[in-house]
Amino acid sequence: MCIFCSIADGSIPAHKIYEDDHIVAFLDIAQVTKGHTLVIPKRHYEHFLACDNELLSYLMLKAQIIGNHIMNKTGAKGMHILSNINEAAGQSVAHFHVHLIPRYDAQDACQIHFAQSEPQDLAILAKQLAV
Ligand code: 5GP
Ligand code: ZN
Repeated sequence: MCIFCSIADGSIPAHKIYEDDHIVAFLDIAQVTKGHTLVIPKRHYEHFLACDNELLSYLMLKAQIIGNHIMNKTGAKGMHILSNINEAAGQSVAHFHVHLIPRYDAQDACQIHFAQSEPQDLAILAKQLAV
């Protein structure tokens, strides 16, 4: 059984800040910034893209509520809400989770860089990616 399934069913401990029948929110063991929280479904899905639609909608609505709550309680000035998908994107636990990472200022411990890329032909790319 995966580690987050074990946290969800209570068989291994975590500092939970919210729990209901479908989801759990608990403090990340490695606090990138104070209040760094993971929101997970209790049912196992490998990642965001594989999650059941209805459960995903429910979880994201709860993540918004919990995110607002964390902002209010910590006095954070900003927040990252992100979900890594597969090892190539840095996913280390293969159970869907959303990171809520409060930001206190641009120089705090969380650094995410969006590097400049080569100029692209956006018209061609948009055509290729059109849904
Ligand atoms: P990922 O790298 O998959 O996006 O994020 C996984 C996160 O889970 C990491 O930030 C890591 O610190 C956290 N994590 C891994 N194992 C445990 C654990 O046993 N308990 C808690 N609370 N967090 C964990
Ligand atoms: Zn799991």
